Amino acid sequence: MDDSCLFCKIIQGTIPADKVFETDQVLAFKDINPVAPVHVLIIPKRHLASLNELSEGDHEVAAGIFDAARRLGAELPELGGEYRLLTSCGESAGQVVPHLHFHLIGGRRLNWPPG
Ligand code: AMP
Ligand code: ZN
Repeated sequence: MDDSCLFCKIIQGTIPADKVFETDQVLAFKDINPVAPVHVLIIPKRHLASLNELSEGDHEVAAGIFDAARRLGAELPELGGEYRLLTSCGESAGQVVPHLHFHLIGGRRLNWPPG
């Protein structure tokens, strides 16, 4: 828990979020500024600033994130199993919130490269 971290506050419940999936390890909630019909953020409950802070032994966190993505991809009816999962690592890559998060985006045709 990082007291100054927006996503840690969402985990603690001091800032509200529209939660769609939760386990002991991870939380998934709707992005407040969606770029597609489905835009969910999947985060570890432990504060990690980015993927760079994931340790070699953090298999449960990594598996929990991918498991959440796979489940949401299968269960959210707008997706039909088709979606993009991405994380931005560092400011120049587009990371704004310094708590590791994966964007799960879909429900419309997506372009590449993302910009
Ligand atoms: P990034 O640019 O990869 O750091 O993405 C941060 C994401 O967090 C953006 O897509 C924001 O729209 C989203 N976001 C910021 N504040 C909130 C919030 N309170 N609840 C849900 N999503 C948020
Ligand atoms: Zn945090």
